[in-house]
Amino acid sequence: MTYDVVVAGASFAGLAVAQAVRGRLLVVDPKPLGEGQTSACGAPLSVVERAGAAGAVQQVHRSLVVHTPRRAFVWDLQGEPFCTFDYRRFCQLAWQRVQGELVQAAAWSFDGFFVHTSSGRFRAELVVDCTGWRAVLARSWGGPSVAGPRWKWFGLETEVPTAFEPGLHFYFWPEVAPDGYAWAFPCGDRVRFGVLSYRGRTRLRSNLEGFLARFRLRPRGYHGGFLGVGPACPGAGRLFAAGDSAGHCLPLTGEGIRCALHAGWLLGSLASGVLAGHFTLEAAHRRYGEYLRAQRGRVAFLSAATACAVRWPPTMRELALASWSHPVLRRTFLRHYLGTFPAADAVD
Ligand SMILES: Cc1cc2nc3c(=O)[nH]c(=O)nc-3n(C[C@H](O)[C@H](O)[C@H](O)COP(=O)(O)OP(=O)(O)OC[C@H]3O[C@@H](n4cnc5c(N)ncnc54)[C@H](O)[C@@H]3O)c2cc1C
Repeated sequence: MTYDVVVAGASFAGLAVAQAVRGRLLVVDPKPLGEGQTSACGAPLSVVERAGAAGAVQQVHRSLVVHTPRRAFVWDLQGEPFCTFDYRRFCQLAWQRVQGELVQAAAWSFDGFFVHTSSGRFRAELVVDCTGWRAVLARSWGGPSVAGPRWKWFGLETEVPTAFEPGLHFYFWPEVAPDGYAWAFPCGDRVRFGVLSYRGRTRLRSNLEGFLARFRLRPRGYHGGFLGVGPACPGAGRLFAAGDSAGHCLPLTGEGIRCALHAGWLLGSLASGVLAGHFTLEAAHRRYGEYLRAQRGRVAFLSAATACAVRWPPTMRELALASWSHPVLRRTFLRHYLGTFPAADAVD
């Protein structure tokens, strides 16, 4: 079977690419749409609305609350409210804006012409790897040295019915998350509690249990997975990569939904432009590369901040947070942070 575009992965990046593609489109994913949530699903409200998924929103948040062992810093997000949303509903609503086919299959490799999957092989003009940190197609095409995210972090999460103060809460508590942070994201009458390891440690159950015990709660089931952090090869030839497969998840915070969606929408419109003959494949790679290069400075700053968060003793972290919480510095940080992976058009 022949398609204009084959997208591997039907999560944030894959759905965004698919929404923007105009042409014969196939999306493959081994899981049914909306299954296999890994994320705490906190993202800017405007981005969720743009995906056509406002109906998935569970709660709107107007502040970030950063907790250290001795203090809590409240960061006002008035200008760019975030929300928590239901993953399954998000995917279903986002898919309603896609014109294409969805096949439940695992993509295995791309040989330059065909995408090989567990449901046979599909010929494609353009292929987009949105398989998350595994970067399945990018690795098969470019080899492990040129593809896939630079770092793999790991996060484990549970969702518990309880009341909680509004806001997205981050906890830099060394006893709970010695090499990362913990979080509590309220979503209506429930809260997603999680623990993240910047070193990619996967044994986080006891950390998560210890975190919940602070609130006299116990985990109710677990989900989670790796985060693909640190920009990597965005593709070559007829293959592109977006989202965690290209390391678009941001250092420090592990925020990857906004980045996957914005990179995905751009890539989808670039693919459509190539198919319509508006520009060449090389020009599409150039434009995508320019967009990604423009993020480098901010991503490098966040990487440096991650190194400090891991190495600095709690008192220094608290001092740094206190100074960044000054209204002027906080506004500057948020402006730059939220300016990373902005919405972009195929043609400037
Ligand atoms: C515990 C945790 C909490 C997080 N919380 C947040 C948060 O609150 N906010 C935020 O912005 N970011 C968060 N992140 C990061 C965010 O989830 C990722 O950056 C984001 O999901 C990346 O989207 P993606 O589409 O690139 O990849 P993914 O969401 O990982 O999706 C990959 C898709 O590819 C499919 N797939 C896998 N293998 C194949 C294959 N062989 N063939 C075809 N398809 C395949 C998968 O089934 C999946 O549908 C969190 C991550 C974790 C682990």
